[in-house]
Amino acid sequence: MGLRSRRPRGVTVKTPEQVQKMRQAGLVVAEALERMTEAVRPGVTTGALDRIAREVLERRGATSSFLGYGDPGFPAVICASVGAEVVHGIPGERLLEEGELCSIDFGAIVDGWHGDAAVTVPVGRCAPEVLALNAVTEQSLWAALRTVRPGGHLSDIGAAVEGVVRPHGYGLLEDYTGHGIGTAMHEPPYVPNLAPKGPGHGMDLDVGIVLAIEPMATLGTAEVDLLADDWTVVTADRRQAAHWEHTVAVTPDGPWVLTAHDGGASRL
Ligand code: MG
Repeated sequence: MGLRSRRPRGVTVKTPEQVQKMRQAGLVVAEALERMTEAVRPGVTTGALDRIAREVLERRGATSSFLGYGDPGFPAVICASVGAEVVHGIPGERLLEEGELCSIDFGAIVDGWHGDAAVTVPVGRCAPEVLALNAVTEQSLWAALRTVRPGGHLSDIGAAVEGVVRPHGYGLLEDYTGHGIGTAMHEPPYVPNLAPKGPGHGMDLDVGIVLAIEPMATLGTAEVDLLADDWTVVTADRRQAAHWEHTVAVTPDGPWVLTAHDGGASRL
């Protein structure tokens, strides 16, 4: 007999060597997102962003986490979610328009290990309320990343996201969450962006746990619709949304943001 394990079934703990391998995937993700961010401007297609990501994958000898994922199989290497699209938008001939937010989500595999991150980039000049939504959503991600340390618990993450986002009155998606990540892009546990019971609950954040944290916030309602392509998630009121994501490992010294070039040092 003993204490009940607080680690849900299927959650894997990575060795330091395995985390180092995930770092290599994370660096490919960081590079590709940086390149795509630089390319965002009015008149560029989301398909052009996808081609940039494919070029980085090829040059780095990496493969895509997204291409062929799910059913129907995802047809691209990035998700490009523009304007009222929150997540899982399919890139193509759509032209980016001034004033929109463009979320770019990208995953790469190196030697069998995944990295996954997302940024949201303003297209040209955006309304102040749109820029504020984006800034607050990014801040909520970093507040959550700071909680990823030994002695912490899974609900610390959602509590941190809520603590930043709620005071602004933005919508927070409930049915879409972050996730564990490793030799599969999506591993247990789910990583909610909400914490109904507050911090200090759920799985222990032990050294070697690796998570993808990804808050999604909206200017209006948190209710969403799924478009007929069976992938694209849009806000029910068609107001804009923002989405930020990083892959982070629990180390003895605290969080290591595997998908940030500097490991998160400048923001943690
Ligand atoms: Mg993810």
